[in-house]
Amino acid sequence: MKHNFGAGPCVLPKEVFEEASRAVIDFNETGLSILEISHRSKEFEAVNTEAERLVRELLNVPQNYSVLFLQGGATQQFAMVPLNLLPEGGRAVYLDTGVWATKATKEAKKLGHIDTIASSSDRNYNYIPKDFTVPADAAYFHYTSNNTIYGTESFATPASPIPTVVDMSSDIFSRKINIAEYDLIYAGAQKNLGPAGATLVIIKDDLFGKSGRSIPNIWNYEAHAKAKSMLNTPPVFAIYVSLLNLRWLKAKGGIEVIEQENIIKARTLYEEIERNPFFKGTAAVEDRSRMNITFVMENADLEAAFLSLANERNLVGIKGHRSVGGFRASIYNALTISSINALVDTMREFEEQNK
Ligand SMILES: *Cc1c(COP(=O)(O)O)cnc(C)c1O
Repeated sequence: MKHNFGAGPCVLPKEVFEEASRAVIDFNETGLSILEISHRSKEFEAVNTEAERLVRELLNVPQNYSVLFLQGGATQQFAMVPLNLLPEGGRAVYLDTGVWATKATKEAKKLGHIDTIASSSDRNYNYIPKDFTVPADAAYFHYTSNNTIYGTESFATPASPIPTVVDMSSDIFSRKINIAEYDLIYAGAQKNLGPAGATLVIIKDDLFGKSGRSIPNIWNYEAHAKAKSMLNTPPVFAIYVSLLNLRWLKAKGGIEVIEQENIIKARTLYEEIERNPFFKGTAAVEDRSRMNITFVMENADLEAAFLSLANERNLVGIKGHRSVGGFRASIYNALTISSINALVDTMREFEEQNK
């Protein structure tokens, strides 16, 4: 068995993989594969409806928000957000917390005037800037709640007098959030929701038409909302597997239960990083992510040796992103505490071997 610490696509619950694989052969005893049923069939309509209902139930989404399953990943949202929310010649403000925030900013700049209101680039994004004020005269404020690459996470929503847009790709469904604090949330599915190919958008309906631009339907939130995410053929399989994962989460007890598990998992690993003289964390303690845990070695020359021991112990996907180096353990909802323990044991074994 492998312990998959990959940053995304990533581990999903074993039960979800098993049920999804059965549905590839015969979906709900229809005699058809989930891959061949019509997206207009009543069977798929039930999948679509239940997936939306479970998102609403698990995250407590108010009625005046639409829940959409789109394609194009979070990257498409980098463009869709300004297309839909930023009037021609308008201004929006972005918080710069790393690679994904920078990419979102660059795309938005193609459509209007974008100001970066604060940045943590001065310390290679190892903390979350907190000393900034969101101006009242911009169209919207955008930030990234969990910085997958740097291992930092904003647990508090910054105060904002204007609509708040958040990229929650790597921490949605990992902890309790108050939807009313946001106007638009987006997330590529492949980190905590399901397989790559679906993108979740939760948008407050009063944002529809905000930019005043003429937007092709495929990039228009309102058109997708009116069509109940069936403007064109949706990513049927990705939505179905997301549904299975949402059912798994609900059966577990929902967000409160998974959040407690995530707290314990992250704490277990951070405690070992702090205790073990061979390793050190890279993120500021108060901003440390519960989903992506970044760490390096006190002696960088030993990194290759640790990586090879990790491979021998069936730990995969722990090599750090090139912009931070070292290691990154992505410990999303479906990664079990036994995988965390396997990593901690391997770090201890390495300490024993090398001291
Ligand atoms: C992975 C990731 C993205 C990119 O998502 P795609 O679905 O590949 O476009 C964007 N933002 C964050 C925070 C991510 O973790």
